[in-house]
Amino acid sequence: MNTVITALTNQKGGVGKTTTSINLAAALAQRGKKTLLIDLDPQANATSGLGIDKQCEQTIYSVLVDGVPLEEVIVETEQKHLFVAPSELDLAGAEIEIARMENPLVRLKEFLQPVVDAGTYAYILLDCPPSLGLLTLNSLTAAQSILVPLQCEYYALEGLSVITDMVIKVQESTNPRLRLDGILFTMFDIRTNLSKDVVEEVRRHFQDGLYESVIPRNVRLSEAPSHGMDIFRYAPSSRGAEAYRALAKEFIRRNR
Ligand code: ATP
Ligand code: MG
Repeated sequence: MNTVITALTNQKGGVGKTTTSINLAAALAQRGKKTLLIDLDPQANATSGLGIDKQCEQTIYSVLVDGVPLEEVIVETEQKHLFVAPSELDLAGAEIEIARMENPLVRLKEFLQPVVDAGTYAYILLDCPPSLGLLTLNSLTAAQSILVPLQCEYYALEGLSVITDMVIKVQESTNPRLRLDGILFTMFDIRTNLSKDVVEEVRRHFQDGLYESVIPRNVRLSEAPSHGMDIFRYAPSSRGAEAYRALAKEFIRRNR
């Protein structure tokens, strides 16, 4: 099986990276695609959001710092076909430790290689922290594509130029094959003109780079993680669930 590796990234905090990682991964799994979500954020929101923070003995920290094989830290979830490599707070210190190692940017890529070679997963999603530090650079070096969740707000476009510049830098250095899979609007509020204006403006600059699917602001999406559930277990008929189902379909089509 060919494995598609996608990094969900945006240096801005709170834009929906983790919500999208969890629910896109769960939606792909529901479609029968074996999916691995790697939590690369020391906040470990994807790990706790799926309710697996209590049961993991080893995390992605053990992989990146101690060299434990990735397979050994992967845990199952209650959703069939959905697997997670969890994170923990200690990962915050990992950047300093990795920086001292040889080839610090390719660590994740190297540890992913055996899993990719085994062809176990159809999709691997990387939930990045809100920074452009070593963990994010490791993700961009390991990924084939990036998906950028973008909150519909006034400064959205400014943040985007930071990301596109970074993609070019990574292409020129550690990962020539990296491509911008798409920009995904999150927390879209149908009632405000601002949301519509932001979408219009970004569309003018990025055309094909935009996902047609838009994720609406939906309170069920914000409640689900505190119950340790993805949206399909928590509120399967909510607008949020519907939106992430549509996104998964489009994601599969764009990443063939
Ligand atoms: P960080 O940069 O801190 O990792 P993030 O980009 O991963 O943040 P999330 O944690 O996914 O962002 O979302 C930020 C907050 O917004 C969370 O409280 C989440 O529950 C909420 N949220 C995300 N998407 C939606 C949505 N579509 N509707 C309502 N609330 C949402
Ligand atoms: Mg997050």
